Amino acid sequence: MIVDAHTHVFPPSVRERRAAILATEPAFSAIYAEPRAVMATADELLASMDDAGVGHAVIANFAWRDEALIDETNAYILDAASRSGGRLIPFVSVSLTGVGHTAGDEAPTVRPGDPRAKIRALAAQGARGIGELRPDDLGYDLADSDEADVLAWAAAAYDLPLLFHASEPVGHPYGGKRGLRIEALAAFAGAASGVTIIAAHLGGGLPFYTLMPEVRAALETTYFDTSAEHLLYDPTIYRRAIDLVGVQRILWGSDFPLVTQAKALARTRDAGLREDELTAVLGGNAVELLGL
Ligand SMILES: [Zn+2]
Repeated sequence: MIVDAHTHVFPPSVRERRAAILATEPAFSAIYAEPRAVMATADELLASMDDAGVGHAVIANFAWRDEALIDETNAYILDAASRSGGRLIPFVSVSLTGVGHTAGDEAPTVRPGDPRAKIRALAAQGARGIGELRPDDLGYDLADSDEADVLAWAAAAYDLPLLFHASEPVGHPYGGKRGLRIEALAAFAGAASGVTIIAAHLGGGLPFYTLMPEVRAALETTYFDTSAEHLLYDPTIYRRAIDLVGVQRILWGSDFPLVTQAKALARTRDAGLREDELTAVLGGNAVELLGL
């Protein structure tokens, strides 16, 4: 069973409005201003899955700022998942505007339009996770903010893994690299202990820091997906990451349509892992984590 833990799909209506949306959504513009950045629909993903032999795929939403866009894309993702016979696993976007600001350790203030009511509804409609989250792009500090508290609450209350983009603090620049500082991600994981986190793109290098005992403890329920590794790392990253965090916490993800699933799969299969490790990374771990 092969599970792709990281793909992106968009409604045709959003793909058609790409140029207009570029002007108003900074995180989207950072990636999709580049004309070669492909946008795919759920049907195109399903065709790719058939072609590559992928059984299930997480379909992640995006870090939108506009509430109407969040609603439109969530509705598409939830509908596509419900029509997929269980093959597509919907991760939704949540609006965190309306989260009240509080001092000290008080619970976040509930205001009109509070996002928690919406998150409750999304969970009832079948959402299986939240993401891909890019806190730095949306202007809140994941290390310490009411927005972060709401995410931790949602993850715990509805058993929703949080999928975070994670930015390498070093290396070559690329569109959308800056989305979340890994020090903020480590701080959040430590504070929201027990919450399931998926740190995308091999966690921006965080697995290395699990050699520090306090970071290892903070990241105990953090998984690392391999999405986009072909643009970032030498293929020995698979062996190194497994040695650092354990094979059970590595999830194969392609970042489709950034790369074809067939190509991403071939690269992972060529990375020199043992057969049992490959089985876990390519799907076994995700089956367990997502209850497939
Ligand atoms: Zn990402």
